[in-house]
Amino acid sequence: MPRPPSSRTAFPLLTTQSTARETLPLEDGVMEVEWRRSPRARRVTLRIDPAAGAVVVTLPPRAGRSQGIALLRAHSSWVAERLAALSPRVPFADGALVPLLGRPYAIRHCPGEVGGVWLEGEEIHVSGEAAFVPRRVTAWLREHARAEIAPRATIHAGRIGRRVARISIKDQRSRWASCAPDGTLAFSWRLVLTPSWVLDYVIAHEVAHLAEMNHGPRFWAAVAHLTPHTEAAKGWLAAHGPRLLRYG
Ligand SMILES: [Zn+2]
Repeated sequence: MPRPPSSRTAFPLLTTQSTARETLPLEDGVMEVEWRRSPRARRVTLRIDPAAGAVVVTLPPRAGRSQGIALLRAHSSWVAERLAALSPRVPFADGALVPLLGRPYAIRHCPGEVGGVWLEGEEIHVSGEAAFVPRRVTAWLREHARAEIAPRATIHAGRIGRRVARISIKDQRSRWASCAPDGTLAFSWRLVLTPSWVLDYVIAHEVAHLAEMNHGPRFWAAVAHLTPHTEAAKGWLAAHGPRLLRYG
């Protein structure tokens, strides 16, 4: 039986803070492994990256690849289970269901039409070549996110006597939203895939940071003043948030 190609020789050199990816055959199946080298890490760690559908192995400065492999082997079944439990990826293509503010819309590719992307009933229509559908849908969702978020942020800010300097729509995968000291609020476009009340909580949370740049009691009082959905929305994001990273 031919051996799987040696991942050792194919393994790219890891320099400081670099990332490398490979597919490794382990006892519990073939796994996508992402290697990271971190100068701040103190020990070898494993975590699941839902967006990448991979297990991330972080190595501290002096740890070798073999230590990462040893940890992977020791936790092989845990990693395999967690990877298998990830929701399937949903590429933006004809027929895919995209939850818009939590309600499912089907992408309908209309190559013969013009007009970019538009809503029709419970469908997201996309004109142009099939190859451009993912990019067009993503750009449209970003704009849709901005159109949903900006007015709500302005209203919430007014209620606590603050002003939003700027709204920035991003695709940060490590967090849903953030507030900069200059009053810029940043949001992931993927939040437009959450139910309206979840989105409302995230907006209220960031707007409250315009008054309190911390997570102290006064901050949470401000959030509670703006939205009644805090606990439920936190629960929703913990349960369903990783799934949102599988779209596109
Ligand atoms: Zn916060």
